[in-house]
Amino acid sequence: AAKHLGRNNFQIYEVSPEQARQHDVALKSRLRTAARNGELKLVYQPQVDAASEDIVGMEALLRWEHPELGPISPATFIPLAEETGLIVSIGEWVLRTACAQAQDWERRYGLRLRLGVNLSAVQLMEADLLDTVAAVLRETGLDPGLLELEVTESISIKAVPNLLENLHGLHRLGCRIAIDDFGTGAASLDYLRKLPADRIKIDQSFVRNIGLDPDDEAIVRATIEMAHRLNRGVVAEGVEIESHLAFLRANQCDELQGYLFCRPLTQISFENLLAERQRLLAGAAAGLSAGEA
Ligand code: C2E
Ligand code: MG
Ligand code: MG
Ligand code: MG
Repeated sequence: AAKHLGRNNFQIYEVSPEQARQHDVALKSRLRTAARNGELKLVYQPQVDAASEDIVGMEALLRWEHPELGPISPATFIPLAEETGLIVSIGEWVLRTACAQAQDWERRYGLRLRLGVNLSAVQLMEADLLDTVAAVLRETGLDPGLLELEVTESISIKAVPNLLENLHGLHRLGCRIAIDDFGTGAASLDYLRKLPADRIKIDQSFVRNIGLDPDDEAIVRATIEMAHRLNRGVVAEGVEIESHLAFLRANQCDELQGYLFCRPLTQISFENLLAERQRLLAGAAAGLSAGEA
């Protein structure tokens, strides 16, 4: 039951199911006002090109800073937000905030970074999801081609009747679709066949075992090859050490995301990163032209 409280909350007592339920109820009611009270924040994790290691995109990840309990993991509060339906308004806030941010960074740094935003199954059931996304794109001015919506593979095609219709609609808006946590669901291949996905994100549970488990290595290698044969791009999640990078690069994975390159960053830290990159490139260009002269 202690897992209900999230791993960030230090638990020394055994918690009864009733206490856990009450805690969830309290969190749910608090979550109702969290966005309004400025307790929700987005962090952004860079995605890099596997060959050059240059930044090519980022994933927006939600954070909740509870005034008394401190940071609460999305693994804890996203399910609560889904149960209450709050994920619909929270998800819209995430989309609007992240798209506005990406558009602002494009304008200020002249960098066309792709933006990944996670969508919950509950959002994908909404009849007006497409209207919401279209409105956000219009309001923020972000190029739809830069927005990649991430759909986790654990969502059942049967349980979410609007899923395919909504994903095709998102494509018609010009957005991209990524299958998140690929390989962990029960129907990976069925998903790949039926979903209009532009790329897949190999789940970190496979990436973590590179160098440790030959079976998982074989799965990673086969997944990359299969994706490419189907004309899909591949991103590996949870790239933590050099040997993961070497393996993924040798096997032609397109893009990488993980602590080896960067943790999820606050807005300010992300801007520092972009500014630093700009300085380095300007310095290299100046060095080059000085060398030519
Ligand atoms: P995800 O979409 O698969 O996001 C990747 C998760 O892996 C993030 O966890 C990220 O911080 C973590 N990660 C990145 N690199 C590494 C690494 O090298 N090693 C390890 N161990 N972990 C790494 P986070 O931010 O805790 O998010 C957990 C999940 O919560 C996400 O998994 C996503 O399913 C969900 N989530 C987060 N933000 C949102 C959101 O705005 N909307 C929805 N619906 N779900 C969200
Ligand atoms: Mg994701
Ligand atoms: Mg996910
Ligand atoms: Mg994932």
